[in-house]
Amino acid sequence: MGPTNENHLSWDLALLYAGLDDPRWAADLERARERGKSFHHDFRGRARSENLSAELLAAALRSYEALQKTGLKPYLYAQLLFAGDSSPDAHKALLARAREAWSALAEETLFFELELLAIDEERMAVLLRDPEVAPYAHYLQQLRVHAPYTLSEEVEQALKRKDLSGKEAFVQLFEELTSSLTFTFRLPAEEAPREMTGEELLALLYHPDAEVREGAFSTFLKLYADNALVLTSCFNNLLLDHAKEVELRRYPDLMTPTHLANETDAAMVERLMEVTESNYGLAREYFDLKRRLLKLPLMKNTDLYAPLGTESRYYPFAEARETVLAAFRGFSPQMAKTAEAFFSERRLDVLPRPGKSGGAFCQGMLPGLPPYVLLNYTGTLRDVATLAHELGHGVHFALSQGQNLFHYQAPLPFAETASVFGEMLLTRYLLDREVDRQAKIALLCSKLEDIIATTFRQNVLTRFELAAHRRRAEGLLAPDHLCALWWEENGKLFGNAVEMIEPYRWGWSYISHFIHARFYCYSYVFGELLVLALYQKYKEEGSGFVPKYLELLSRGGSRKPADLLAPLGIDLADPNFWQKGYDFVGGLLRELRELVEGEGEMSERS
Ligand SMILES: [Zn+2]
Repeated sequence: MGPTNENHLSWDLALLYAGLDDPRWAADLERARERGKSFHHDFRGRARSENLSAELLAAALRSYEALQKTGLKPYLYAQLLFAGDSSPDAHKALLARAREAWSALAEETLFFELELLAIDEERMAVLLRDPEVAPYAHYLQQLRVHAPYTLSEEVEQALKRKDLSGKEAFVQLFEELTSSLTFTFRLPAEEAPREMTGEELLALLYHPDAEVREGAFSTFLKLYADNALVLTSCFNNLLLDHAKEVELRRYPDLMTPTHLANETDAAMVERLMEVTESNYGLAREYFDLKRRLLKLPLMKNTDLYAPLGTESRYYPFAEARETVLAAFRGFSPQMAKTAEAFFSERRLDVLPRPGKSGGAFCQGMLPGLPPYVLLNYTGTLRDVATLAHELGHGVHFALSQGQNLFHYQAPLPFAETASVFGEMLLTRYLLDREVDRQAKIALLCSKLEDIIATTFRQNVLTRFELAAHRRRAEGLLAPDHLCALWWEENGKLFGNAVEMIEPYRWGWSYISHFIHARFYCYSYVFGELLVLALYQKYKEEGSGFVPKYLELLSRGGSRKPADLLAPLGIDLADPNFWQKGYDFVGGLLRELRELVEGEGEMSERS
């Protein structure tokens, strides 16, 4: 590979601006500022007025969209430049300038959404029927979804101020305490114990030695147990704070605020969780197969992520690209063509380098501006999957380019649909072509472990969180109460297939989702299962499914999830739909079991 080749692996931002000194960059920011000023001048106070016409509202919405697009382009450019290389001062300065301009613009136009919130329900219903306003309907409805539970401005302000020393103080305390913890642990290859961070200890759950895995996780959990007083206090207060908030705002249920944000509803989510629980047996079946692969007499919960000892090979990037594109092509040539454009237009930054941002992402940009992808490709199978994941996002954004800015991004529960679907296409493609039995087993195990972590485990977390909230309503929780609730919910999943190590009683105490957001975890179950069920539908319907799926992606976030899925004949309230996702998991398990048992025969014969 010569330097020219290397060069083609970095992205080309000239599609946006010629470079750092392109005068169009500053000119765009200035234009956005002017548009913000005239928007303020033209519309301030007018949405609130009694005689707001549909014509005026439509004009305001269009200007609001246009000025945001004008301001976003230079901002996104500065972000990409910085992500590609954060070291030059000029990149930092450009990003800071864009950020300041954007926040000034947001301040100038903040009144608009507040005024939209204040329009009463009946009036809004009339306005939404207007053909000029209707294209913005979903945005307006979603913006106003919390309105019935919003208190007077004075009360809202007071609550916000008191949150600083209330809810936010406990979040802060949790963060400060847990990030200050250092652990002492001795690795078998080393003479003396050494200090480690929590992250480093948890990474040892992937260590080949069972004793190291158990020792590391026990060390981790024991230090959390030592801090039970503070951790339990954080949980108790955040649980109580949420109960008070639900009471003050008169939400019908503890989970309502989350459902509103996710555009889901209580009945649908309850169905989803029940179907998940009725399939816990699939997880136990997997754990047992894994136990056999690891040749362990007994599976502990510290063995769940134990490596199988099959090293994955190196994938040159050219091969990764061809593999992912071929997997996409097998599903839909249009999908492959859309993904190919990332390479031909150089909207992909591939290799790690100093100063470049870590991880991987797809920056969706805006309607009218094609998306970009950043990777840190090192040639592992995981990296190939990441390419499929980010290109899945990329295809989603490319297909929804016809939506307005507010409907461009997929709604929250759909945020990972196209990406995980892309990974699924890749897994299937690889499984169908892989001839090495060990490699096939490794592929299936890693897919199944991903699925178990995002469905069954997140369901356990949600059930625990619900139980803790309910139990808190009866009074202050002691650490033992939380431990018992956690043990009980996990026991339902693991059954007799997995023995939980004793310190795992404290497993609840380090999960920051419980601290940062209420009931966040079921969104993972929803998102993952949606993809699995869609994939199962594809298996059943074949090519007839493809145009419907692409149409779904092209609708971006223009409707509620349930409405987006209706044209595919999917009813989210129907438990049979969710069961499809687990039928697909059952299929993967059967495939794995045949390989594992076939292997047994092989070794007996040889
Ligand atoms: Zn993603």
